Amino acid sequence: MRFDIVTIFPEIFDSYFGESIIKIAQEKEKIDIHVHDVREFAKNKHKKVDDTPYGGGPGMILMVQPFYDCMKSIPRLKHSRVLMMDPAGTEYSQPMAQQYSKEYDQIIMLCGRYEGFDERIYNLVDERISIGKYVLSGGEIPAMIITETITRLLPGVLGDIESVKEETYTGDLEYKEHPQYTKPSTFITDEGEEWNAPDVLLSGNHAEINKWREENEKRG
Ligand code: SAM
Repeated sequence: MRFDIVTIFPEIFDSYFGESIIKIAQEKEKIDIHVHDVREFAKNKHKKVDDTPYGGGPGMILMVQPFYDCMKSIPRLKHSRVLMMDPAGTEYSQPMAQQYSKEYDQIIMLCGRYEGFDERIYNLVDERISIGKYVLSGGEIPAMIITETITRLLPGVLGDIESVKEETYTGDLEYKEHPQYTKPSTFITDEGEEWNAPDVLLSGNHAEINKWREENEKRG
């Protein structure tokens, strides 16, 4: 899977993509991430990528030219999808991550900033995606979320580290996961209170453990 991220703040991605699952997935060559700096494509003297809105109003609007040229520079694979990070878009969910992980070999994401995109930039996209009903300052965190959720689903990425199958939101939009505990079996708080892990989980009896987990499943 190839990810292309179009942004005016490319350095935001360095730290997050350099750690943990995303780092390992790149090392294993399961994914290939290309972060494109839109500013490099600005043709004006000061590498400006935003300007005031026609008709007046607050804030700055991202200009069509640098985004157009940046998009043109990105090589397209056979099954690619262009997603625009947009608070007014379709709300992102696990089934969408599953669909993208299966149907596409390239996900291109456009990250907005300021008051958003010049409307003509929408001509370059297949779909507008929101990660939730709130407004962030930029599309970079949404792009990280989409990259990570898809990457986790790719064969061979999680391996033995974590099991995708047992995760929440796998088949549908119902949240399901059983409570988890690890050492110590008894934790004593500063007030002397004992917080115990359930005995059944320490019993080694897998039938009983499974029964307990089913009975105590968290749903949402
Ligand atoms: N004026 C815009 C509006 O009201 O929709 C807000 C633009 S927002 C400050 C700047 C950028 O952040 C957006 O263009 C988008 O790329 C990104 N963004 C903010 N919230 C988002 C969300 N919930 N989901 C996806 N992208 C978001």
